[in-house]
Amino acid sequence: MRLSRYLMPTLKENPVEAQIVSHRLMLRAGMIRQAAAGIYTWLPLGYRVLRKIEQIVREEQDRAGAQELLMPTLQNADLWKQSGRYDAYGPEMLRIKDRHDRELVYGPTAEEVINDIARTEIKSYKETPKILYNIQWKFRDEVRPRFGVMRGREFLMKDAYSFDLTYEAAKHSYNKMFVAYLRTFARCGVHAIPMKASTGPIGGDLSHEFIVLAETGEEQVYCHKDYLTMEIPSENVDYDSDLEPIYQKWTSLYAATEEKFDETEAKKVGDNLLSARGIEVGQVFYYGKKYSNTMNVSVMGEDGKPILIEGGCYGIGVSRLMGAIIEASHDDNGIIWPESVAPFKVGIINTTVGKEEADKASEDMYKKLQAAGVEVLFDDRDERAGVKFSTMDLIGLPYQIIVGVRGLAKGVVEIKNRKTGERKEVSPAEAINFFTK
Ligand code: ATP
Ligand code: MG
Repeated sequence: MRLSRYLMPTLKENPVEAQIVSHRLMLRAGMIRQAAAGIYTWLPLGYRVLRKIEQIVREEQDRAGAQELLMPTLQNADLWKQSGRYDAYGPEMLRIKDRHDRELVYGPTAEEVINDIARTEIKSYKETPKILYNIQWKFRDEVRPRFGVMRGREFLMKDAYSFDLTYEAAKHSYNKMFVAYLRTFARCGVHAIPMKASTGPIGGDLSHEFIVLAETGEEQVYCHKDYLTMEIPSENVDYDSDLEPIYQKWTSLYAATEEKFDETEAKKVGDNLLSARGIEVGQVFYYGKKYSNTMNVSVMGEDGKPILIEGGCYGIGVSRLMGAIIEASHDDNGIIWPESVAPFKVGIINTTVGKEEADKASEDMYKKLQAAGVEVLFDDRDERAGVKFSTMDLIGLPYQIIVGVRGLAKGVVEIKNRKTGERKEVSPAEAINFFTK
C-alpha cells in the first residue's frame, strides 16, 4: 500500500476525549473514528488489525475442534422470554420492534439462538460433543461506554457454545476452550492470566476470566508472579487427550479478581503475589443445564430416553483485545505491534522524495516486497523525513526500511526494529532478502 493513497488520517495532537493510551493511539493512528457513543467505524488500518486478531481467534477455535457458524445480530425476543432472560437482562439489551410490532433484540450474546439451533438440529447422543462458535457484532447499551473499543456499545465478540451429555464431557469441552484461550492470547502477543470468576447473570458454577495486566485495566487483580513465565501449550497439543493436567497447572497458582479476592489465600503466596490492574479479554463458563432446563435442550440417549444437555459458553472480546494489546505494547512514540497482529510487517520510508536514486530504490523495494507477498506500507508522500519517522513510529509496524540518497551513495538502506530501536545498514538486496527469506 502507498501511503499517499491510503486513508490513514493520523492526528498530531492527543484527542481530548481519549483518557487511556490505547484509545488515544487508535485515534491518532487513524484506526478508528467514533460514529456514535460507543460505536466506531473501523478505518482501513484498524480494520486490518481487527481481521488479524479475528483470524488468530478463528484458527485456535478450529484447532480445538470448534465449528464456525454465523448467527444473526437481530434475535427473536420470544427466545429470550423462554430462557427467562428477557426481563433479567435489563436496559443493557437493545430492544427493537419491527413494522409488524414483532419484538426483536440486538444480541448482547447468543445463548438463546444457539440453544434453539441445538434443540432442533442436534437429535441424538451420537452427535455430541459439539462446540459451535461465531465471530459476530454484539450490542450492549452500556451505561458508560468509554475507553474507545475497550468498552464500546457495539463490539466484536467470538462466542462459542458447547453441548455435552455429562459433566465430565462438558468439563473436557471447558478445558479445550481454556487451552485454546491460552494459545490465542499468547499468539496475539499478550499475557492473559486465567482467574477464577463468579458466573453472574449467566449462572452455573465454573468460570474463569482471562485477564491482561495493564495499568489502565478496570479491574484490580492479584496473581502469583510465576504466571508471567508459565509455558503456553504448544500447537501440537492433542485436544482429544486428557487436558486436565494443563488446566490444573494453570489454575494451581493463586490468581483472583477482587470480587474473588481471598485474604488468607493471598497471604500464602507471600512475596510472590503480584497486585495489578487488569483487562478482561475473555471468559469461559460452564453453565450445566441452565438453558437445557428453560429451553428444553435435549438429545435422545442410547436407551431412547431424552438427556438434557450440559452446556458451556466461551467469549473473547475481539475488538477489546486490540485495545488491550496496545495497552500492553506501546511507548512514548506510539504503538508497538506484535508481529502476529501488525497491520503491515514493514514500512518503507523514502526520506528524500524527488531525488531520482532514492525514488527508484524505494519504489523497486516496494514492488519486490509486494510481489513476494510481504505486507508493506510505502511512505511515498512528499513530506519531511521527521514527519515520516513519527508517523511510522506512531502506527507501530514491526520494521521500517529507511531509504535516502546519503545511504544509497554508500550502497545501503537502514532497517529499524520498532520494538528494540535497533538499526542496521544493509544493501537494498539484503533488505529484500531479510523480509522474504
Ligand atoms: P465486562 O465485565 O467487562 O462488562 P462481561 O463480563 O460482561 O464484560 P462477557 O459477557 O464475559 O463480558 O463477554 C465476553 C467478552 O466480551 C468479555 O470478556 C470482553 O472481552 C468482551 N466485552 C464485553 N463487554 C464489552 C464491551 N462493552 N466492549 C468491548 N468488549 C466487551
Ligand atoms: Mg465476562
